[in-house]
Amino acid sequence: MPSRRKRPAPSRLGWAFFLLFVLVTVLATLWVLRPLKEREKPLPPGPEVKPLRTAPKAFRETPAPMACIIIDDMGQNPRLERRFFALGLCLNFSFLPQGRFTKRLATEAHARGFEVLVHLPLQAERKRDASAFISLQMGEAEVKKRVKRAVAAVPYAIGINHHMGSAFSADPKHMRWVLEETKALGLIYVDSRTTPKTVVPQVARSLGLPFAERRVFLDHFEGYEAVCRALERFIVRAKRRGPTLAIGHPHPATLRALIKYRLRLQKEVRLVPVSVFVRKVNGYDKTLSQKF
Ligand SMILES: [Zn+2]
Repeated sequence: MPSRRKRPAPSRLGWAFFLLFVLVTVLATLWVLRPLKEREKPLPPGPEVKPLRTAPKAFRETPAPMACIIIDDMGQNPRLERRFFALGLCLNFSFLPQGRFTKRLATEAHARGFEVLVHLPLQAERKRDASAFISLQMGEAEVKKRVKRAVAAVPYAIGINHHMGSAFSADPKHMRWVLEETKALGLIYVDSRTTPKTVVPQVARSLGLPFAERRVFLDHFEGYEAVCRALERFIVRAKRRGPTLAIGHPHPATLRALIKYRLRLQKEVRLVPVSVFVRKVNGYDKTLSQKF
């Protein structure tokens, strides 16, 4: 039959379509499932992306350098000394045990949130007012008794630094007695560094007593301009060389200079309580020092 010869058998045509369909499906599947990295073509070369010269602000901000100020010779002039309390700065106050107003003003300083130290009078090279000083003529028992008595005279004291002491603090035997008693009373020590021959650091280290060293005297040279220059040096040193401790005195010129530098002392450095400073420089209690 002619009609049968002209038309291919339906089953053959069906097979051909079926095979074509299978071939297309397999190719399509292979194309979809081809490895991912083939699909990611490298980006055409564009302009070079340079790293930012400075990090974004949020990452650039580091806390201001830690710094500490102690005002010595306290307990003698309530009117002037209270003006230091009112400065709005985190200062520390060191009271003379024999100061006429020491008990009252140390209590006040503590109530206002300041840390209090005992300003321990030690023998200087030039003898002055020997009766009030702990001298190199004294034996161990007498030295330790006087340290204990001085600490008892200053309420809320958390540490000791010395008044004068250029002769005494250069003598390892006598200084050891003072620092042993300091440790026994659970206090910290700040070396006022009234002599370059001081033995406080090595003796304190050998005893495992937490201590710090004075780096700047704010009013070693009298007068407002001189105190301003010392404050400038204090701020710069803290920024360049890390934690820096300064000692000043309740003088009118020092007060005026602190008023002038108040804003900079609040912004450019982090003034901290002396116990926080001592922990920091001795490497103790890092978590607490980070709070400030
Ligand atoms: Zn002093």
